[in-house]
Amino acid sequence: MRFEPESILVAFPDYKEPLFRPPSEAYSAIVQATYGCSHNKCTFCMMYKGKKFRARPLDEVLHDLDLLAAVMPKKQKLFLADGDAMVLSTGRLLKILEHARQVFPSLKRTAVYANPSNLLQKSENELLSLQRAGLKMVYLGLESGDDLVLKTIQKGATRDEIVEAGKKAVRAGMLLSVTVLLGLGGRERSVKHATATARALTDMAPHYASALTLMLKDYEKEFAERCRPWTRLDPMETLMELKTLIQGINSTGMVFRTNHASNYLPLKGILSEDRDRLLAILNEAMSDRSGKYLRPEWARGL
Ligand code: SF4
Repeated sequence: MRFEPESILVAFPDYKEPLFRPPSEAYSAIVQATYGCSHNKCTFCMMYKGKKFRARPLDEVLHDLDLLAAVMPKKQKLFLADGDAMVLSTGRLLKILEHARQVFPSLKRTAVYANPSNLLQKSENELLSLQRAGLKMVYLGLESGDDLVLKTIQKGATRDEIVEAGKKAVRAGMLLSVTVLLGLGGRERSVKHATATARALTDMAPHYASALTLMLKDYEKEFAERCRPWTRLDPMETLMELKTLIQGINSTGMVFRTNHASNYLPLKGILSEDRDRLLAILNEAMSDRSGKYLRPEWARGL
């Protein structure tokens, strides 16, 4: 379909803010297949609190694909927002993926955020058909491998359920990227949170794992009340938790990153082969109490 530039400008406000995407989707075409998050209950997450969840009508989504294809026809990557576009029925996702392949002839992969329940509710065959239709990458939040933490933050799934959800995506041939959250257990459960999260990542064996650091800002008092006992980790305690996490992951080939802007120390390596190098960087940063190796508070952000 061909559009005049003026009509594209008129149609682009279809994006409903706020719009989030993983850092690695920075150069992807982005279409909102849903608005908000179908769960929207995690106590630490403010991403979609002001947005009522709904699935967009299929014709609107296809129309946005047409608009983007008209201005960026050579795009190779597409990201379906918002918080868990994987919640859509398999039939609807297949129609979106099929249309995307038609309008973006160079498309190599489509990616989505998924909730554990989205993946668990789909059959193995459904996930396989989505992968074959172009859904090559899934971003899944584990947050913690500690069931008490998961219950406290109202993740809506147990550790075993999240691990199984991730494994199901991998069995379907999708690339799996998993996020965990440093500081979520507070000072009180830091060691348990880190060791249980390392075990869960080991069991799930995602292709990519990223650690982010909890940032609550104005919401911290309310979070601490709801998740008692919970005390915020200071930067050095956060690095110690990260160290415990890295030490506990037993993997071959998992890309591990802390390059998100919320973190105090950006790291990147492959576990387990780069473990010693990552730990050496961590130890050096922790040995300097001035914090000169750490990202300053003012530069951190989610
Ligand atoms: S499932 Fe994800 S997007 Fe939804 S509330 Fe929880 S952390 Fe936020």
